[in-house]
Amino acid sequence: MIKADFHLHTEDSYDSRIIATELLAQAIREEYQLIAITEHLDLLPQELGAWGLPSLTRYTRRINELKATNPPLELLLGIEIGDYHCHRDFAKRLVDQYDFEIILGSVHFLGDHTNVAIPIHRKMDNAAVQEYYLSNLALVEQCDIDVLAHLGVYKRFYSARPDESFAGAIIKDIFEVMIEREIALELNFSCIRKTYQRLIPEPEQIELYRSLGGSLFTIASDAHFMDHFGDGAHLLPGWLLENAVFSERKSRVLCCPPEAK
Ligand SMILES: [Zn+2]
Ligand SMILES: [Zn+2]
Repeated sequence: MIKADFHLHTEDSYDSRIIATELLAQAIREEYQLIAITEHLDLLPQELGAWGLPSLTRYTRRINELKATNPPLELLLGIEIGDYHCHRDFAKRLVDQYDFEIILGSVHFLGDHTNVAIPIHRKMDNAAVQEYYLSNLALVEQCDIDVLAHLGVYKRFYSARPDESFAGAIIKDIFEVMIEREIALELNFSCIRKTYQRLIPEPEQIELYRSLGGSLFTIASDAHFMDHFGDGAHLLPGWLLENAVFSERKSRVLCCPPEAK
């Protein structure tokens, strides 16, 4: 049975209140096999203006010190690069200077600077949702990432599932590129702490990815507060937790055969 969390924020994420040493102690108490700390790297001008650039040197040193204590679980040094495709070459030159074990790619912004990961004040009409998914397609096509994070995050503050059928062809394209480029699909249960009490992506979308041959996954609480760590894990599908194995890749992403039920 898999017990892991590949997406967690600690002291070097501007919006997190988690202390990494406390997180590690809690994960050990709860007998996790693996946790990945994945601080934000947000490089869009409006984000740099608001939060500044975190020191990756300080961050990596801090996590490497924790790893050096030889904890009884795997602790991965990771990074979540926001909107990577918008500043790819600059971000790549920056992260290439460090030995990150897992790189998450995520879309947080639309072209008009709407942040889709926080309560949205503009209406997400079909054109905006299509733009959101096209950005995810550009991300997986253009950037070297291990994991596509929180696909569908714009729904976090919805109360009911919207009709996304008009975006089905783009979502299929995203999955085909991910499979071709061996990018894992993140199953993210952070919406449980907002109003959308569902896993993202949706079950049929996960099934589509699997039916196309996709077998690489991660699981993610995307926690920024201690009491959010693991909260919502009951949404994860049993076929994954029971049949997946940690891959031999540096990122250790989960591998689950398409036929596992
Ligand atoms: Zn994110
Ligand atoms: Zn995150």
